[in-house]
Amino acid sequence: RFENALKSVARNLDIKEYVQNSKDLYPLFQRSAKRFVTGETREEGIAVGAQLSEKGYDISLEFIGENTMEREACRQAKDEFVTMMQACGHQNLRSRISFDLSHIGLSVDPELALEHLLEMAAEAERYDLSLMISMEESGKTDDILEVYKKAVTQYEHIGVTLQAQLHRTLDDLQELLTYPGAVRLVKGAYQEPEELHIPRSETLDERFMELVQLCIQADFPVSVASHDETIYQQLMKRGCFEHSYVEAELLYGIRPDVCRRLKEKGVPVRVYLTYGQEWYLYLVHRIAEYPPNIYAAITDMIEG
Ligand code: FAD
Repeated sequence: RFENALKSVARNLDIKEYVQNSKDLYPLFQRSAKRFVTGETREEGIAVGAQLSEKGYDISLEFIGENTMEREACRQAKDEFVTMMQACGHQNLRSRISFDLSHIGLSVDPELALEHLLEMAAEAERYDLSLMISMEESGKTDDILEVYKKAVTQYEHIGVTLQAQLHRTLDDLQELLTYPGAVRLVKGAYQEPEELHIPRSETLDERFMELVQLCIQADFPVSVASHDETIYQQLMKRGCFEHSYVEAELLYGIRPDVCRRLKEKGVPVRVYLTYGQEWYLYLVHRIAEYPPNIYAAITDMIEG
């Protein structure tokens, strides 16, 4: 229940506005965000990406944003992704570009999101980069999958994220395995109605691993996106990481120890990096999905 309350706080726009307008609170939250966000600018994101890449990690890069309600703002977000891809291309950074479809148009019109997605996919192809669509709350799942399916039949270097916590995901995955593309599997970050989802539990972990194995049976590229070391250990025991198209993916600043251990065991590890001015939302999501992060955030605020 505490976790659900935190998720509600995370989504509360009045609280967000209050923090952003507070001269005292804003810099404190900004300090805590540094643990999870590379910075506010593209240059900062790319610089951290280059450092991790040198250490042998693959990377995903996201310009933070979601639920953009104005056409012009959606276009600006899409332009930022295009500029980001050009910058990665010029610096030979073989990144995956990750984003919410609602950042580039889904909340205005799914057709606008598709148009922007296709433009981004063409740009990604030019620089040999790939795209990965994030999954948002269940009210958007149908629209996201529809846009994805239309785009991936034209550009195979696009993937989509599926949430193991939703009951529907088993069917969604079976369908997506008949398309080209790739899948990123996560447990799911959103607070969903009881009847739609499996809460955090062994049942959810088993479902998560079942979904990974379905991808493997179909020789389908899959990113196992979790910080749960027990899941990684069990998947390793089942030989899941012996396939070249299976990788682990973890968020920047969360469990770097797990990243290191997986890499030492020969598992390909991708680190998901973010940048942008909308770091507040990203920070509170990380706290809501793992409440002990509050202590880390407070320590960061005090110690700087
Ligand atoms: P959990 O069972 O939540 O946690 C297992 C253990 O991992 C915890 O005990 C703790 O040790 C550690 N841990 C987990 N979270 C944190 C944290 N925030 N801080 C510190 N330690 C932590 N969700 C979506 O709904 N849509 C998406 O598109 C999406 N994309 C993602 C992309 C990536 C690369 C990753 C890694 C996650 C993404 N998520 C997304 C979030 C995901 O759904 C989970 O909310 C998040 O990964 C926490 O679940 P978990 O699998 O790590 O396991």
